[in-house]
Amino acid sequence: MAEPSVSQRERLEALLEEKRIYPPSEEFRKQANWSDPAVYERARKDPEAFWAAEAKNLDWIKRWDKVLEWKAPWARWFVGGKLNVTHNCVDRHAASSRRNKAAIIWEGEPGDSRVLTFEMLQREVNKCANALKSLGVKKGDRVAIYMGMTPELPIALLACAKIGAPHSVVFGGFSAESLRERINDAQAKVLITADGSWRRGGVVPLKANADEALKGTPSISKVIVLRRIGDKTPCRMEPGRDLWWHELVDHASDRCEAEPMDSEDILYILYTSGTTGKPKGVVHTSAGYLLGVSVTHRAIFDVKENDIYWCTADIGWVTGHSYIVYGPLANGTTSLIYEGSPDYPDRGRFWEIVARYGVNIFYTAPTAIRTFMRWGKEWPEKYDLSSLRVLGTVGEPINPEAWVWYHQHIGRERCPIVDTWWQTETGMIMITPLPGLTATKPGSATKPFPGIEAQVLDEKGQPVGPGGGGYLVLTRPWPAMFRTIYGDPERYERQYWSRYPGKYFTGDGAKLDQDGYFWLLGRVDDVMNVSGHRISTFEVESALVDHPCVAEAAVIGKTHEVKGQGIAGFVTLKENVKPSDDLKKELREHVAKKIGALARPDDIFFASELPKTRSAKIMRRLLRDIAEGRVLGDTTTLADPGVVAKLKQQYEEEGIVD
Ligand code: ATP
Ligand code: MG
Repeated sequence: MAEPSVSQRERLEALLEEKRIYPPSEEFRKQANWSDPAVYERARKDPEAFWAAEAKNLDWIKRWDKVLEWKAPWARWFVGGKLNVTHNCVDRHAASSRRNKAAIIWEGEPGDSRVLTFEMLQREVNKCANALKSLGVKKGDRVAIYMGMTPELPIALLACAKIGAPHSVVFGGFSAESLRERINDAQAKVLITADGSWRRGGVVPLKANADEALKGTPSISKVIVLRRIGDKTPCRMEPGRDLWWHELVDHASDRCEAEPMDSEDILYILYTSGTTGKPKGVVHTSAGYLLGVSVTHRAIFDVKENDIYWCTADIGWVTGHSYIVYGPLANGTTSLIYEGSPDYPDRGRFWEIVARYGVNIFYTAPTAIRTFMRWGKEWPEKYDLSSLRVLGTVGEPINPEAWVWYHQHIGRERCPIVDTWWQTETGMIMITPLPGLTATKPGSATKPFPGIEAQVLDEKGQPVGPGGGGYLVLTRPWPAMFRTIYGDPERYERQYWSRYPGKYFTGDGAKLDQDGYFWLLGRVDDVMNVSGHRISTFEVESALVDHPCVAEAAVIGKTHEVKGQGIAGFVTLKENVKPSDDLKKELREHVAKKIGALARPDDIFFASELPKTRSAKIMRRLLRDIAEGRVLGDTTTLADPGVVAKLKQQYEEEGIVD
């Protein structure tokens, strides 16, 4: 983004006039884990000392010699140290007064449930670890995992970490082809999967997909199959290759020594969501990662010993790795896991779970919040949500209207909201409020976490002042940072570290306000250039979602002869709202009124659904392909390829032309 012009600066200033501000209540501040603002200054002055002090909360086999070795872009944290991640997440708690505390509370979609104490979790992890060893898995061997959200999924991750075998989890919603690609990229030796998983009362045929994938994965020698569904789904077992979990794992010994791991040994590989293109195999290592996720989890969610913490992400994504499994368990927190969808058996399912288990901390995504808004406040109103204390959001910028709805109808105007910005690559939350310290503003992720430094830069690498938009970069190494792209160190350097040498290029646009708060604008590719003005798709979307008839919106820039780019809005309406030409007109004017005439969409298109990745992020690049009449780009990471095919056809039939 270039230096803003005068009119653009005025526009941005107008936008930054989000007047609503929510300081932490005195009551919350008093009980908060982190309530001294001096932490920011302390961490800024000596970040290494800050992280090293926090690292004392972990159990080390051998203490580190040096906190950080940084030869940009290559980082080594806690050099010379040794520990085991699973020992820290499970064994040390099982050997403490937390022994009989619930580590995992699991709720199955059909209504079955299971609670694993730290001691029970330890036994299950050990059995799985021994089973893997019996199949010849050794330290350093990769294990692919393709499962639904059952307790065996975190058990499998922790078993891998216990024996030092990097896991590569592939989200259970992915197709055979995507699974095959990821297995081959990581050269995994063993695959752990299930016969299927429950979703909206139906079965996702995991094993059938895996069989298809395994036709082209020569590195896989053995497959462990969990029986989740049973007779209701066919499951062919390949003799000599496939083994049932209940035959292999359940009979293995429940004692297993933790493998001593170097701080920099690989903990896992995880592929990014693929919102912008081909997914990348992000590599995370052991000590720094564990430190980063545990500190942020404790500070940002203000977790207390007896809290029930629920992150609704899937463990197939980084949010699940860091904030369902590793962060919470390292802190000895009870982590709730739900298998299914939010509308099964009805649209009150999440709130029923919150009420029944007395959930204290709830962490979800803007897309889910917009869905709840669409379903109406009547659903959460039926339930007692008074146990909730902190709410979180992650995954996309949150539209201010969705933020306020979350605050009113879920948090009942009592709970601080932490809007957490981070990425698969960062491993841990990077920009976020601290709930006892930060006055929040709807739509802003606020400030970098202590020890983290972020900047907004222009094209030339100069910091953009308050009100200006630019590229978000991180200027200092952090403990949970990814170390490379698996098998492609050159891409690691080129994609992330070459644009501004020595600084991490996030690929996201952001702006700063007068208070130094960061406002994420979405991906750099999602910024439009309309008659020389830089307008973020997210801002136009937020203006559309602000209209009472709109449920969701995706905005793109499409080539326009005069303006360079014109604005096209794909809109889904709230239930019971009828699409009409008058409504289109009204929406265009609504945006013009909220942002300014230059942001008035040229076209509004009503869609019954928007194309999303399997991590539920809107895929604007495919909408651009549709609007510009191109062949669709890579669609393998789409949740439902049918949606985009239908949209394309509808779009062409309505004949919207430039
Ligand atoms: P790919 O990199 O393969 O295109 P992806 O970027 O969607 O996929 P993730 O690492 O899962 O994969 O997502 C990180 C991105 O999500 C961030 O770069 C940002 O665009 C968006 N994001 C996450 N949290 C927030 C937030 N709180 N506010 C704004 N954007 C967010
Ligand atoms: Mg990304």
